[in-house]
Amino acid sequence: MGKVLVVGAGGVSSAAVHKMAMNAEVFTEITLASRRKFKCDEIAASVKTRTGIEIATAELDAMDVAATVALIRQTGAELLVNLALPYQDLVLMDACLEAGCHYLDTANYEPEDNAKFEYHWQWAYQDKFREAGLTAILGSGFDPGVTSVFATWLRKHKLDGIRQIDILDCNGGDNGQSFATNFNPEINLREVLADARHWEQGDWQVTPAMTHNVAFDFPGVGEKNMYLMYHEELESLSTHFPEIERARFWMTFGDAYITHAKVLQNVGMTRIDPVMHNGQEIIPIQFLKTLLPDPGDLGALTKGKTCIGDIATGPAKDGSGEKTYYIYNICDHEVCYAEVGSQAVSYTTGVPAMIGASMVLKGLWREAGVWNMEQLDPDPFMEMLNTQGLPWEVHELSGPVEF
Ligand code: NDP
Repeated sequence: MGKVLVVGAGGVSSAAVHKMAMNAEVFTEITLASRRKFKCDEIAASVKTRTGIEIATAELDAMDVAATVALIRQTGAELLVNLALPYQDLVLMDACLEAGCHYLDTANYEPEDNAKFEYHWQWAYQDKFREAGLTAILGSGFDPGVTSVFATWLRKHKLDGIRQIDILDCNGGDNGQSFATNFNPEINLREVLADARHWEQGDWQVTPAMTHNVAFDFPGVGEKNMYLMYHEELESLSTHFPEIERARFWMTFGDAYITHAKVLQNVGMTRIDPVMHNGQEIIPIQFLKTLLPDPGDLGALTKGKTCIGDIATGPAKDGSGEKTYYIYNICDHEVCYAEVGSQAVSYTTGVPAMIGASMVLKGLWREAGVWNMEQLDPDPFMEMLNTQGLPWEVHELSGPVEF
């Protein structure tokens, strides 16, 4: 159906590209480009072994717009899938506009020196994409991504609007490391150590990072402590579904992770501003990333399951009063590794990136402009989740959450 250019060759990209190759009738030609070509070649070799599909590889610095434009033209890609880092979002959107290519990513733009998690930089491209007749899909991972599609599906089929929503992200996996992050350590720690903000009664309520936690019994995983955090889909959901009175995001962490993160923060190792070291400028969090395990290498070591989903409350469509639903996916680290050679956090991000990309290539999500996932028709995406390794369940709860 179409040619795709994937940028970035980390853990998420590897899972997404394997799944694209497994859907070769949609992804007729795949090119994988990244800063270091050997990373692309390693993924291409694994794809060839597992699926028999050949993919092209290239070296690309995504910060170089002219080089990206040239590569889009050379490959004839209809869609660029950005699985590099949030710092590259705007330059890749610029390259897509110049070369006439659709765009999709999994994380909102971030300036390197300021951890904000805000959409306004990318929303400012709305008119440019609309006028160019091109589609940009923002945040097609699991969270953001599937969690927003889940909310839209509930709003389309079960609820006449969402009064309150809690997004619950549980990783019950164990990788045997003293301290490791499940996706890019720099992005993960910036996110986890930011102030916890949630939306309540028309405003943001701010609490210090990692201070508010509750125990929750996750389906398929069991009881875990989850912490209130800020996450970017809270901004887009509360903007696009203005009836939402309260929106919160929770993520599970073990005690050892919290202790390590706090110590690293206290000693300055998570700073994102440059410091002088032996006459050379370094950014501590980037140095820390060099020391930590590469999340892409954790696949073989990780056992256990993830459970990510939404609990949403609102007036029932059938007029039967207020209803609460819990909609979620359970994913097994070892099953993911057997299928594509990745742990479940890369898989649960890479598969929705592939599904979002196929929505664009199939012409199902093709309206010109810049869109968050909750603005698009959830039904074909939800169908593909079930057939592509991320089946979901929905259950009615007895009432709104008490925590
Ligand atoms: P990795 O660090 O494993 O991979 C990032 C890749 O991007 C690396 O191959 C890196 O190259 C490449 N890259 C970085 N800078 C450039 C550049 N200037 N030009 C070209 N390539 C570049 O990250 P992950 O795979 O863990 O995460 C990828 C993305 O997915 C991130 O944006 C992350 O925030 C997002 N994510 C989204 C989730 C969701 O559910 N929505 C969940 C998890 C992650 P090199 O190898 O040379 O460093």
